[in-house]
Amino acid sequence: MQDLSHYLNGEHVAGTSGRFSDVYNPATGEVQARCPLASVEEVNQAVEIAAAAQPAWGAVNPQRRARVMMKFVDLLNRDMDKLAEALSREHGKTLPDAKGDVQRGLEVVEYCIGAPQMLKGEFTDSAGPGIDMYSMRQPLGVTAGITPFNFPAMIPMWMFAPAIACGNAFILKPSERDPSVPLMLAELMEEAGLPKGILQVVNGDKEAVDAILDHPVIQSIGFVGSTPIAEYIYGRGCSNGKRVQCFGGAKNHMIVMPDADMDQAADALIGAGYGAAGERCMAISVAVPVGDETADRLIEKLVPRIEKLKVGPYTAGDDVDYGPVVTAAAKENILRLVQSGVDQGAELVVDGRDFSLQGYEDGFFVGPHLFDRVTPDMDIYRKEIFGPVLSTVRAGSYEEALGLAMDHEYGNGTAIFTRDGDTARDFAARVNIGMVGINVPIPVPLAYHTFGGWKKSGFGDLNQHGPDAFKFYTRTKTVTSRWPSGLKEGGEFHFKAMD
Ligand code: NAD
Repeated sequence: MQDLSHYLNGEHVAGTSGRFSDVYNPATGEVQARCPLASVEEVNQAVEIAAAAQPAWGAVNPQRRARVMMKFVDLLNRDMDKLAEALSREHGKTLPDAKGDVQRGLEVVEYCIGAPQMLKGEFTDSAGPGIDMYSMRQPLGVTAGITPFNFPAMIPMWMFAPAIACGNAFILKPSERDPSVPLMLAELMEEAGLPKGILQVVNGDKEAVDAILDHPVIQSIGFVGSTPIAEYIYGRGCSNGKRVQCFGGAKNHMIVMPDADMDQAADALIGAGYGAAGERCMAISVAVPVGDETADRLIEKLVPRIEKLKVGPYTAGDDVDYGPVVTAAAKENILRLVQSGVDQGAELVVDGRDFSLQGYEDGFFVGPHLFDRVTPDMDIYRKEIFGPVLSTVRAGSYEEALGLAMDHEYGNGTAIFTRDGDTARDFAARVNIGMVGINVPIPVPLAYHTFGGWKKSGFGDLNQHGPDAFKFYTRTKTVTSRWPSGLKEGGEFHFKAMD
């Protein structure tokens, strides 16, 4: 079995803490590698290296930094198949999904090629007699990011690409469940021309995270993961005086109005509810049909589509709809919540509990589930399941449907399916959720917009990628300058052009 490493100062370095966690092949249930779990000393070493390397990188002009990003994009495309295979092997998602994971990260890297434009700052000529005023965006220094298992390529790139394009050094603490792709990305950044020590990967668990949170040299922390950990990291990071942005869990509602194209809505729910086994923070986990007739029509369309879903390992071909979930513990948690739904009185219309795949009996596969007549007090409604389970909550009116989405503690994404422009517009304007789709089930903003949820799905002022990333990873300094030639004797302003 392979022992994975950390990536420090341009080298793969074996873990020295003596602590490891198992990395599974979720399709077979086998342990395929061990991930080293860093000690405080190993984190401190990474910070020391980053702090030594960062000033020179921060002084490199933005255009040259952007060229590293350009080359990195080429290398990502060159190695796309290799990256996707490594990602699927540890995460379990299908190869097309794994390529999508790399691609959505790559698009943010492309956006970061615009760093020279984004970092230009502002200038006011003649703000007063002989006075000019300008602001510049300077790198923070050493920055860090802690990422979840479900997008092991995309989310690290969403963080390290803007951080590094802005002139910072970045320490990545990826998920210990699928750490191989982040290590490969760090190697590729160096092949693209990044100096050693600017992007490092420290693998680990809470011990490494706490060391990052408490290290005085680290200036900012980005986190994506579950809400309880997001709240913890936000609180501890902020109280240590760091700039922190944390993105947490989700329970995304899709409202289906009676006038919606029901086939389109059902297709959308299949992709958004069951794609990637529901392990997406932008997955739709709650369908809210408005009116019983709409609900009946929707369920009727959903059931045959769900029954046709092909669940299997990534090696079984591109027609597999979704793969296993990430660990046995994740599978148990999903099945426990499904059972709670049954116990609390929801109607299990499609029951995937007995799902098993011949030849992969030890894999972490979960069959698709569909619940109807779910009510807001049930655990399956309140909690994030993060599995292939779609709950239907029947609403009597548009206002009731809107109220459901608004009252839920999570506020990551939501969607409405309707042909009525007024209703769609009202929904987009009033709903207290960060990302809204109109006849689009997973409204993930593109790289040049920003990504972020509200309520318990996002903590901090700035979103991920887009213009916000350049604000998050820089500090603004404003300079006011006065030169004597702008003044006449006695201090009166000298308008050269008017004399
Ligand atoms: P997680 O919270 O278990 O882990 C995320 C990271 O935190 C990992 O690097 C992990 O090592 C670390 N961590 C775990 N426990 C910790 C602790 N006690 N102290 C300090 N650090 C700890 O999340 P996950 O299971 O890897 O990912 C799934 C979750 O992420 C879901 O809730 C999903 O909705 C969320 N997510 C949110 C977004 C978003 O943009 N809002 C995107 C992707 C995933």
